[in-house]
Amino acid sequence: APAPAPAPALVPTHCPYCSLQCGMNLRGSGETVEVVERADFPVNRGALCGKGRTAPAVLSSRVRLTGPLVRRPATGRLEPATWEEALRVTADGLRRTRARHGADAVGVFGGGGLTNEKAYALGKFARVVLGTSQIDYNGRFCMSSAAAAHNRAFGLDRGLPFPLEDIPRTGCVVLVGSNLAETMPPALRYLTELRDNGGKLIVVDPRRTKTAEQADLHLAPRPGTDLALALGLLHLVVAQGRTDEAFIEERTTGWEEARAAAMAHWPELVERITGVGVPQLRSAVAMFCDAPNAMVLTARGPEQQSKGTDTVGAWINLALATGNAGRPLAGYGCLTGQGNGQGGREHGQKADQLPGYRRLDDPAARAHVAAVWGVDPGSLPGPGRSAYELLDALGRDVRALLLMGSNPVVSAPRAAHVEERLRSLDFLAVADVVLSETAELADVVLPVTQWAEETGTMTNLEGRVLLRRRALTPPPGVRSDLEVMHGLAGLLGHEKGFPTDPEEVFGELRRASSGGPADYAGISYRRLEEEQGVFWPCPETGAVAPDGVTVPAGGAAVAPDGPTEGPDGHTRQPDRPAGSPHPGTPRLFLDRFATPDGRARFVPVVHREAAEPTDAEYPVVLTTGRVVAQYQSGAQTRRVDELNAAAPGPFVELHPQLAARLGVADGEPVAVVSRRGRAVAPARVSEAIRPDTVFMPFHWPGAGRANTLTNPALDPTSRMPEFKVCAVRLERVAA
Ligand code: SF4
Repeated sequence: APAPAPAPALVPTHCPYCSLQCGMNLRGSGETVEVVERADFPVNRGALCGKGRTAPAVLSSRVRLTGPLVRRPATGRLEPATWEEALRVTADGLRRTRARHGADAVGVFGGGGLTNEKAYALGKFARVVLGTSQIDYNGRFCMSSAAAAHNRAFGLDRGLPFPLEDIPRTGCVVLVGSNLAETMPPALRYLTELRDNGGKLIVVDPRRTKTAEQADLHLAPRPGTDLALALGLLHLVVAQGRTDEAFIEERTTGWEEARAAAMAHWPELVERITGVGVPQLRSAVAMFCDAPNAMVLTARGPEQQSKGTDTVGAWINLALATGNAGRPLAGYGCLTGQGNGQGGREHGQKADQLPGYRRLDDPAARAHVAAVWGVDPGSLPGPGRSAYELLDALGRDVRALLLMGSNPVVSAPRAAHVEERLRSLDFLAVADVVLSETAELADVVLPVTQWAEETGTMTNLEGRVLLRRRALTPPPGVRSDLEVMHGLAGLLGHEKGFPTDPEEVFGELRRASSGGPADYAGISYRRLEEEQGVFWPCPETGAVAPDGVTVPAGGAAVAPDGPTEGPDGHTRQPDRPAGSPHPGTPRLFLDRFATPDGRARFVPVVHREAAEPTDAEYPVVLTTGRVVAQYQSGAQTRRVDELNAAAPGPFVELHPQLAARLGVADGEPVAVVSRRGRAVAPARVSEAIRPDTVFMPFHWPGAGRANTLTNPALDPTSRMPEFKVCAVRLERVAA
């Protein structure tokens, strides 16, 4: 008898969705793959949520795009086209707009799910090929306030400046505005282990979420008031003499101003603003300060506000004042959301940045990157509009748009207006894997490869750079985003500079990032094949890393694990043998912060109301978020039967008191009306939410689209919209 065919090889890779970037194995055969547990990857140790487990369904979905589409003037409809035609029509559309209205009339909109290589190539494509300053991406909606606050306080933005594995070993975690039990379920184990080890968990969230149910203490402030909450806690810390004066003296600046701002926020005042009682504030301070080490972790709750940078800054001030930063098992961190939320903001698809997390307005940065790109630094455009401002300018100052990896018709604030702006464009090209709600509006749709069909790197929420590997052959009618950029660049007169091989692009990215804040120069595909990711900054051995991060001296470098306590109470990483490659930097700021003087900066912040406070006409607060079975705009997960069965549509979560006042029973339709529009969805009556607040998940288009309602008021520093707070009224809907 013939020998049985060998089982197809397992390909170790990572989930296509959130910033945890869970490890998984794919077993490929022909055109299909199945997910097999990958227990060796330390972040998730084999665990996956339903989204990751079912991710292959999108690869073989009947509704995935398998050939380009071009809108035909005769019918007004998107119809099949060849790649040659689709690329030619796209290049013509971009070229024509540039010729008529100037380079800045052409916009580019990227995504936080694009690989590092794609994000890098997209930024280069915009600035070198199109010559436009108008590029930004949907990560601006996701974590930009935390990034701005991180930079302001520490001089460097890496979401978590320590690995996830440190969380169970700290003494107390304050988790602000994160429902990770639903957004990234495998990460919940870090909090469970924390509590198993005797640590305490404080959750700050207006809703009693599944994550809040795990907490030792749940604080439920009115949405948009957590800045005041942090100030009230800091006030009590000072009043009780629980500041770490030695740390403040040795490693920070600006304390007196920050202290004065906090002392103006009396606990009784904070109780009136937030609705959180003074006894609860005192309990939180006791838990936090009794712990030998503590962490503050924020997510979209405090960040997606028109004062998000200051709100995160208030939480950072609390960590600094208690000495909980710049030492092991303590610190402030941001739980990034999108799959490449971290890497996506480092390589140049952001309006104000160049690769390596360099600033676009820094002459030295421009000169370095221009040299790598082989262009004159003076030819590089300056900073452009932020994401919402770019979308708002469509059809007016920006007349043509190339969009990759984003679905703003569902995910942008004031979405009906954004949809109208997209419709008003002279030309729109969208690269995506399915016909998303935004792709439906396009003049050209370019079908691109998916995660398991291509190789590339991602950077997870810890700053760990990972390799996603190709496990199966893509359908013949699709191309990778890199191939799309290569093709368009050629048609627009740039034959060279846009390779299609991801490893070649990564090699250029390494050179462009070298010496920058996010230094990838010492990371190679070979290393990523052999290691479980490498944390940036990772300069080439012997190179000098920027201030504030570990500098390898004389060829010696730092060890990735096991920092040891030094005689001064701060930690040192043991030296490695001379000539060793730099191991990467799992823990930042242990010796100094990345500011010019090496000190963390307190920033004085004060409470202010949301941009749109409630009033007699709109008396209820709307806050938005996610559910476990859907991801972001749902473009992929709404195409998976199992996920749709678990989460088939939007809902309006409201308290029984509010439901009774309205006369609405569980499951009955309810209309939510804001100054920007109206959304209708079934009521979900629950005591888990404050009586003055309603919650809607934002994954769906159509009548129940939550972002029809949200307020695009922007944070003045990060330019992040205020998704988390707006004023609404509720109306009964006749059944
Ligand atoms: Fe892990 Fe996030 Fe993927 Fe779920 S969606 S499997 S939590 S990476």
